[in-house]
Amino acid sequence: MVVLTRILTLKTSQRRQLIDITHDVVRFVREGSVKEGICTISVPHATAAIIANEHESGLMSDILTKIDDLFPQSPSYSHNAIDDNADAHLASAFLGHSKSFPIVNQEMVRGTWQSIFVVELDGPRSRREVCLQVIGE
Ligand code: ZN
Repeated sequence: MVVLTRILTLKTSQRRQLIDITHDVVRFVREGSVKEGICTISVPHATAAIIANEHESGLMSDILTKIDDLFPQSPSYSHNAIDDNADAHLASAFLGHSKSFPIVNQEMVRGTWQSIFVVELDGPRSRREVCLQVIGE
């Protein structure tokens, strides 16, 4: 069994933002030595998330608008007494901090319209990390 790990770092510029990391993930899998296995994409953050969907500007705007609708900033959250970002924690908890894809013939198995995005939910941040890990043989 082989385990390959890479940490991507990125900077965000908006409070809520989608950052497409598909190219980095696909290249990491192709450059690795794992023919059959699994690739996990994970953010070690409580106010960010990972999603897989179409990179189309209208849809990307729709996704951010829906996140705003579902998780509005509100003074009523208990956590806001500490650092005023409960909406970001809630969105992260529901969207999820990771996604996994199968690897077959050293390629990620994903749909044409499944780009991989980091979802910034409490930016801007000078440093966000994404952990890519491939496990297989
Ligand atoms: Zn917080």
